[in-house]
Amino acid sequence: MTGDAPRAKRFPAQWSSGSRATAPSGTARNPLRPQALLHQAAQDAARHVVPTGLGLDNGPMRERMVARLRSEGISTPSLLAAFAAVPRHRFVDTALAIQAYEDTSLPIGLGQTISKPSVVARQLQWLFDGANASRQGHLGRTLEIGTGCGYQTALLARLAPTVISIERLQPLHQMARRNLDALGVPGVRLVHGDGRVGHPPNAPYDSIVAAAGGEAIPEAWLAQLALGGRLVAPTAMPGLAGQALVIVDRTPDGFVRQVGESVTFVPLKSGIG
Ligand code: SAH
Repeated sequence: MTGDAPRAKRFPAQWSSGSRATAPSGTARNPLRPQALLHQAAQDAARHVVPTGLGLDNGPMRERMVARLRSEGISTPSLLAAFAAVPRHRFVDTALAIQAYEDTSLPIGLGQTISKPSVVARQLQWLFDGANASRQGHLGRTLEIGTGCGYQTALLARLAPTVISIERLQPLHQMARRNLDALGVPGVRLVHGDGRVGHPPNAPYDSIVAAAGGEAIPEAWLAQLALGGRLVAPTAMPGLAGQALVIVDRTPDGFVRQVGESVTFVPLKSGIG
């Protein structure tokens, strides 16, 4: 019918009722480029950087984590400064980076986890209260068992002049090396091996810290502990479902052992993988 013709002109509906409709943001001259976002995301992933707006690179989330640690009794200024300086989100998968400053353990692959910041801080605070560390104001010659992703190693690098870190799983040993190289962390020696035998070439150690828990403290660690040195290791406790942090000091009168808080760490395993 001829009477329908004017209505047909109004279809489809116009975005603007005016005669000069505003051009949508994508035009023939200036097309939208959704793929540019993907391109940007790939670059961010390669840099291990979470998209801007989360503030992870600017440190406020780290500062909040440090404030929490301080309120939990962590008191050594250099230890708090190390937590403020080391970007934990650079040690975990990009998809987990948003959780990096929560007090939580996170998976790092091969069934292993990066320990909670509060637990790492407690272990390192125990080390700082050892005789040699208290006297020197730093952790001295330090041995870490269980490098994992290398986060605690990066903290140790700021707290000790010499750091040796042993990891039994080759892929994690390599991942830690990549993580530490990417951040330019100097002066740590990463070893692929079974940490239960310690690392005799650099012994004795002022500080020994384990990130995996066994049934007992290996004899080799005690043998490699310096006089005045302190060892902190999660260890299974008879009568306790989980583990507890065990602290051992080597004093002129022999080894002195105390038991700290209960914890849950991945198992200290034998051999390498
Ligand atoms: N502090 C680490 C935590 C890693 S979890 C981090 O910041 O990521 C503990 C690590 O101990 C795991 O990577 C596990 O493979 C390692 N481990 C377990 N038994 C070991 C052993 N006998 N020698 C060396 N590393 C061991």
